[in-house]
This record gives sequence, structure tokens and C-alpha cells, in this order.
Amino acid sequence: MTVRTRIAPSPTGDPHVGTAYIALFNWAFAKHAGGEFLLRIEDTDAARSTPESEAAILDSLRWLGVTWNEGPDIGGPHGPYRQSERQAIYSEHADKLISDDHAFVCFCTSERLDEVRREQQSAGQQTKYDGHCIGLAKDEVAAQIAAGTPHVVRMKVPEEGECVCSDALRGEIRIPYAQIDMQVLIKSDGMPTYHLAVVVDDHLMQISHVLRGEEWINSMPKHQLLYEYFGWDMPVHAHLPLLRNPDKSKLSKRKNPTSISYYRDSGYLGEVLANYLAMMGWSMPDEREQFSMTEFAEQFSLDRISLGGPIFDVEKLNWLNGQYLRAMTPNAFMDAIAEWALNRDRLAQLVPLIQERTERLADIAPQVEYLLGDRIPLTESSFADSKLETDQLLAILHHIGRRFDEQRSWQRDELYQVCKSLADDMEIKLRDFLYPLFIGVSGRTVSLPLFDSMEFLGPDVCRVRLREAIEALGGISKKLGKRLDKAFDQLDRAAQ
Ligand code: GLU
Repeated sequence: MTVRTRIAPSPTGDPHVGTAYIALFNWAFAKHAGGEFLLRIEDTDAARSTPESEAAILDSLRWLGVTWNEGPDIGGPHGPYRQSERQAIYSEHADKLISDDHAFVCFCTSERLDEVRREQQSAGQQTKYDGHCIGLAKDEVAAQIAAGTPHVVRMKVPEEGECVCSDALRGEIRIPYAQIDMQVLIKSDGMPTYHLAVVVDDHLMQISHVLRGEEWINSMPKHQLLYEYFGWDMPVHAHLPLLRNPDKSKLSKRKNPTSISYYRDSGYLGEVLANYLAMMGWSMPDEREQFSMTEFAEQFSLDRISLGGPIFDVEKLNWLNGQYLRAMTPNAFMDAIAEWALNRDRLAQLVPLIQERTERLADIAPQVEYLLGDRIPLTESSFADSKLETDQLLAILHHIGRRFDEQRSWQRDELYQVCKSLADDMEIKLRDFLYPLFIGVSGRTVSLPLFDSMEFLGPDVCRVRLREAIEALGGISKKLGKRLDKAFDQLDRAAQ
């Protein structure tokens, strides 16, 4: 058997370090066994998937040194490699499940489903589909479909017994069928859900081993049932531990930058981030901390994975990056600098901002200092020129943070609009409102235009700087955070 693994990211945002970590482990597992690794794009959520996000994910994986044998960019014998292009395959498979009596068409409206959920909740029961449409006669189903009634396809689940699944890292996992919902397989827009698509694709793409995040453990029974219904062998599954913040909570962008682009833009080397991610829950047999991806693949084995939540600690990453940078030859170091910030793409973004403000080339360095490196550390006195009180400044920064969390594109004009409308909602003069953001982002009162700077820095760096600005102003306690969240939600509702 050829070992075949895959990474299956959903292109719905910035390329996440968690995706890179799972990708690296799958890649190393396949390489170690002389097998193949492929990349599949799970873009069945049409509203949230974007080509920009797909491109950014591919780019950042390449930057980390991950290569794939098949994928949307290079094709391969099992394509297409984008789920949105495989709809006919999923419909065909859903039809097969219906005709074999393993799935059924469901016409329940969302009002009915809400009602059922409410009743179950008030009776203290687990909320799940109640099987209302399971017994509909074939001609009734056909008539409703012909009449254009919106519908989904759901899988059947045994009423009794328990599902016994096996995880290569965790052994046997037992989950009673009673806890498992009759999962929607095809949505009313005709697109498959993750659960149908992942099983069909892993089978058709001949995946032998699925290494994925532990958040999918509870989906195993559904997937195992689908493999049984189709009469297919199930690939070996292993659920890797999730990355954690230093406080052990699940890695989140509120506490740690999570976008790979952040690490690239902040001057980490791709090979260092890859090396660091390879140490997340895994260690070299000789416990060495510095190793290349080739060495990682050579030594990789599942039994060296430990399940305790691996901590993604930026301090440790900094240390490792420093080790690599200092060990470089002067030539390689020069290349790294040029590759990082002084390449033509990055300069092309800066030139429109700085050219018109420059008399001598020597003026450039101080202008771009906060864009290329860090800005000066902030203290409360950095905000001394503001007309507003500290609690107002904190409220502004907190609310901006909340709006930015929802912000999907990161362009100057849109960022301006977000701030402008928030300033209006908070009834604060735009100038006063923007001041703490200005200081937070650039650390100075005179800088290049704020929104251009933010676009250049990207969402993750801006988020980190906002967080640091809040800390400099004394921070937001749990209690204050709750109050500010409430105030923000009220503003949001009033604005609608
Ligand atoms: N699209 C899923 C995700 O990004 C893939 C999970 C899997 O590997 O099966 O989390």
C-alpha cells in the first residue's frame, strides 16, 4: 500500500499556524514512508471561501517548505482538488446512500427545527434531529422535490448501541449512537457538508492515513458509519493535539498571532517556523531542538507524539529564530534580509507612501521604522496628548478590536469606514477617536497615513499592536471586558 496523506484547508481566512502544523505532520508521515502528500481545498462554504485565502494558504505552506504531489495548482490523477468543483460526485454518492436506505431527504423548515430544539432543551434532552422525515413515502418525496420544496439530505444513524472507533494515537474511542445526530450530508444549496465530502474524497483520493486536529474526534462515528454504508475501508485516523496559548487555552488570535503571514512579515524564517511547529507535541529521538524538515521526515513516527496540549510560545520561537539567524553565513543573512523586507513586492507597497515625503534617501529609514521593525514600546504616557480619559481610550481600542475581529478584508478604505462608523456610533470626534489607534499602530504622533500603514502591516500585526496599546493603558480586566463587550453589542444593535 502506498501511504497517502493530505491536508484539507478551508480557504476562509488567513493561513493559520494550526493548518501548517497539521500539514507538516501529514507531509512528514508520507515522506517518511516514501508515500505521497496531497493538498485539497475544502471550499464548500461558498459564502466564506475566497480565492485570495486559497492563494495565501498555498503560498504560506510553500514558504514553510511543504511540498505536495497533487493539488489544485498542479493537478493530479484524483482531481479536481477543490471540493466546489466536485459537486456532481457528492450528489451521486448521496443518491446512492438514499437508494440503499442509509440516508433520507428532509424537508423540515428551520422554524420547525428551532421549535424541536427548544422543546428538547426545555425537557433537558440532548438537541438533535427528531427523525420527522425519515419515514416519508418515496412518491411523497418525489412530489415535494418536483414542487421545488427546499430540502436537505440527512444520514441515518442506528438508534441503539455504540460506535467503537479506533484512533492511532488514542486507541479505542466509544461513543453511543444515541449521542449522534442525523447529520445533514447535502445542504439545501446542493453543496455537501464537510462530513460527506471528507469521506468521499478521502476514499476516492486513496488516502491511507488521516492525521487531523482533535476537534474532529467527535465526528468519527459519523464518518465511520459513512464508510460502512458505502462499503469502503476506512483510512487510519489519528487526531493530533490542538495548539495552545501559554495559558493552555486553545490557540486564538486574540491572545497570539495565528496567521502564518504574521510570522513571515515579522521576520521569522520559514524553516524556523517549520522546525518550531514540528516540535509541537513531537520530539526528535535524541531530543534535539534544531532540525531540518528533511531530518524531521526521516525521524518521524506517530509514537513520538505526545497528547498533552502543545504550547505555542512566541518567546521560544524567537529564541529559535535567533539561533538560526546567528548561525547563517553573512551571505545567507544578506539574502534573508532582502527576501524579507527589501524585496520588490514589499517595496512597491511602501514607495507610494514614502516617495512624496522624501527629500534625501536618508529620510526613508526613520519613516518606515515602525513598518519594517517593531515600534517603540508604549507606556501610558505615550497617550498623554489625547483629549480623552483612559477609560474612553480603552473603550475605543476594545471596540475597534471587536470590529476588526469581524473584518475580512484589510484594505485602507474599508478600515477607514469601519473606524468612521464606529466613531459616529460612539459619538466621538473622528480625530480624537483615531488618536489611540494611531499611537497603538505607529507609536508616534507623526507617521505615515494610518490606514495605509495598517494595510501594509496586515491584520495580525495590527491586532498585536492594539493588544499592546491596551496593556500600556493598564489593560482590560475580566469585569471591564464584560462591560465593554456589552456596550459594544448595544452599539452594534443600535447601528443596525
Ligand atoms: N477542512 C477541514 C479543516 O480545515 C479539514 C479537516 C480534516 O482534515 O478532515 O479543519
